[in-house]
Amino acid sequence: MQDDSIFKKIITKKIPAHIVYQDEKVTAFKDIKPKAPVHILIIPNVFIASLNDINKKNKSILSHMFYVATDIAKRKKISQEGYRIIINCNKNGGQEINYLHMHLLGGKKLGSFF
Ligand code: AMP
Repeated sequence: MQDDSIFKKIITKKIPAHIVYQDEKVTAFKDIKPKAPVHILIIPNVFIASLNDINKKNKSILSHMFYVATDIAKRKKISQEGYRIIINCNKNGGQEINYLHMHLLGGKKLGSFF
């Protein structure tokens, strides 16, 4: 377990964050440098470094993270207009924080990556 991780400290409330949802499996909070009017990060409560560490035993966390993200999108009233979900993986994927996290972005027309 990465007790020193900044995201672990957010889960355990050792550092402040605007938590919008938390249950026994995941925590969702506002990104500190939002790239869109709605920018929420959804993370597992148990440390997983990246998508590379998903395995047969822990894979169900991904569906729960997706479910929570879609539910937050509805509550934030961005679901009808649309939104984007991103998980960056490692260096080439642009993952800066070594703790699996899902970005939920919306509230404006997002630019195309491709
Ligand atoms: P990534 O590039 O996918 O690793 O994204 C990491 C995200 O974490 C960035 O969008 C940061 O703005 C965000 N972030 C870093 N530190 C914090 C923090 N203390 N509270 C909320 N979001 C954070």
